[in-house]
Amino acid sequence: MIVVMQHGATRENAERVAQLIREMGLKDHIIEGTHRFVIAAIGDDRFLDKGAIENVEGVERIVPILAPYKVASKEVQAEPSLVPLGGRRGGVVGGPKVAVIAGPCSVESREQILEVASAVSEAGAVALRGGAFKPRTSPYQFQGLGEKGLEYLAEARERTGLAIVTEVMSIEQVDVVARYADVFQIGTRNMHNFNLLCACGEAGKPVLLKRGWSATLEEFLLAAEYIIHAGNKQVILCERGIRTFETYVRNTLALGVIPAIKRESHLPIVVDPSQGTGHAYMVPAMCRAAIAAGADGLIIEVHPDPQHALTDGAQSITPQVLHQTIAEVEKIAAAVGRSL
Ligand code: PEP
Ligand code: MN
Repeated sequence: MIVVMQHGATRENAERVAQLIREMGLKDHIIEGTHRFVIAAIGDDRFLDKGAIENVEGVERIVPILAPYKVASKEVQAEPSLVPLGGRRGGVVGGPKVAVIAGPCSVESREQILEVASAVSEAGAVALRGGAFKPRTSPYQFQGLGEKGLEYLAEARERTGLAIVTEVMSIEQVDVVARYADVFQIGTRNMHNFNLLCACGEAGKPVLLKRGWSATLEEFLLAAEYIIHAGNKQVILCERGIRTFETYVRNTLALGVIPAIKRESHLPIVVDPSQGTGHAYMVPAMCRAAIAAGADGLIIEVHPDPQHALTDGAQSITPQVLHQTIAEVEKIAAAVGRSL
């Protein structure tokens, strides 16, 4: 970190900063410029309270050099992390193959999930998504089937070999979800639920972590850091769109985060074009764009009868559209040196 002093700050002020830096266990180096003092703090300062230094008289600003995340960063691991999804399909996120996770927004009934599972399996998906516990904006909307839904998902895995990705909304649900699922999904509303992040980190299953809809890239990686710090390196990041002023989409799918994450982190990243746009007609194009931009996979909402879906019908594509989309994505993947 670099501490820039105000114009007119005294050497005593700079010395005070240097002393604080030493008290924090780092080395200091005062540079007297022609107009102002600048103090360099040498060492790993990312866990220090920089605010304490900002409070010293004469400090203008603090410029961090290291990113605040560590175990999620490329500094500790240069090569990409591979996260196996489970199930019998052998799907892995982060390797040369692009992983497709597909299924309904919610598990609605045994028949519905078994039908979608066989359809997405045939289309080429390696994992089945579907919420048994649903984080709904209104308490009057369908809240999910709970444990019954998890049982149906497990039956779908038995039949198809697809890995199961499903949301866990609270610490109390971690055990029951772990009994049935292969991958925990942590939703956008829970990205800042640090206790839940830790509980999922301790549970030892892969975690698909959705980006909070108003989270910065730094906050997103720090949320991943919580899970890894709790003992679980198997984290899959998921860009699912952020809230902006725009109204023609439900969320603005920030695909620029993909190259940024690739530069900063060894963690794989998948894209959810369904929550990311809110409209089924946009989903195929965003799938292609995500893979072209370097995403490691897709998580797509698919429903055999979107018009009667209990949740997120507007953004759900049919199995036929999924088929077509996967065929197109395969070509894009090949163009960027990957396969499905
Ligand atoms: C979902 O995947 O259906 C969902 C609720 O996702 P998000 O947390 O991104 O809104
Ligand atoms: Mn949904």
